[in-house]
Amino acid sequence: MNEFSIIEKFFNRSRPDDRLLRGVGDDAAVLRIPLGYDLLVSTDTLVNEVHFLPSWSPECIAKRALNVNISDIVAMAGLPHWISLALTLPTVDDVWLHRFSTALHQELNAHQMQLIGGDTTKGPLAISLTIHGLVEKNAALLRSGAKSGDGIYVSGALGAAALAVQRIAEGCDFKSLADKRLLQALQAPKARTDLIPVLRKFASSAIDISDGLAADLGHICKQSHCGATVQLSNVPVDREVKNALGESGNIFALTGGDDYELCFTVPAARQQAFLRYCVRYGLEMHQVGLITAQRSLDFINEQGQKVRLQNKGYQHFC
Ligand code: ADP
Ligand code: MG
Repeated sequence: MNEFSIIEKFFNRSRPDDRLLRGVGDDAAVLRIPLGYDLLVSTDTLVNEVHFLPSWSPECIAKRALNVNISDIVAMAGLPHWISLALTLPTVDDVWLHRFSTALHQELNAHQMQLIGGDTTKGPLAISLTIHGLVEKNAALLRSGAKSGDGIYVSGALGAAALAVQRIAEGCDFKSLADKRLLQALQAPKARTDLIPVLRKFASSAIDISDGLAADLGHICKQSHCGATVQLSNVPVDREVKNALGESGNIFALTGGDDYELCFTVPAARQQAFLRYCVRYGLEMHQVGLITAQRSLDFINEQGQKVRLQNKGYQHFC
């Protein structure tokens, strides 16, 4: 099977969409951006044995690739609409491609999204997605919007995916229910599309937690020209991470990564309304600290002392 028959057989499935004038099949896709909207564009690449293992199911790899990309659009308070797929394959494995593409199209349909183009090449297995989303004009939520006095919130418990990575390195068989749940957190993160409305209504800045809360909050601080104080005991820690690591669980959760929860800031004046909204809609939110004018990022333990982190999160090329 050549490149063109792979595209035709597995990836050419466009649905009617009045903003998509041309999808798969031409030199480029043609999109019409509706009046009053800005286009959000982001790319994430998953490389075999770096971001996933060859033993993972093709369904899992497809869904993970899509969700980590959607997560970036959500963190900008935008709605994801289209993706392009750059697929690098070592060989043409018909069964793998069928399972991968079926899962990808299923997950795309679930989010009312479409695959609009891509590239298919031979080489070491890698999946690179470029995602396109829309946000109302000038309403994109930036990392640079935090101000001194804003509350810092995290949308869910952290550390499970990072603990799964550690267990893989230790040769865990993932037979127990607890271990299976950790692996699920790593293999199948769910982008928090449910939080788009709350971000739009209340947040001053946001980031999705892919490299670890400490590192990602650091990006907000840097781009907002401010600092932050985080109470370690307020960091929401996954229950299995707590069981396994006890006291040190919160440092682990802070520096782990691969969580795809959101970290965002809410101005002091909006905090009461925000908390009432969260109660009303049953949203689990954890205030972990405050944005400060002083440009340092401080982590405070229960004795009120600053804690130095050995590493702040995942970085390539280290
Ligand atoms: P070109 O040679 O002009 O780069 P290609 O032969 O790479 O074009 O691709 C032909 C068409 O198929 C293009 O519309 C491209 O966007 C699309 N395409 C290629 N690979 C994929 C893929 N993996 N998934 C979806 N569309 C793809
Ligand atoms: Mg090409």
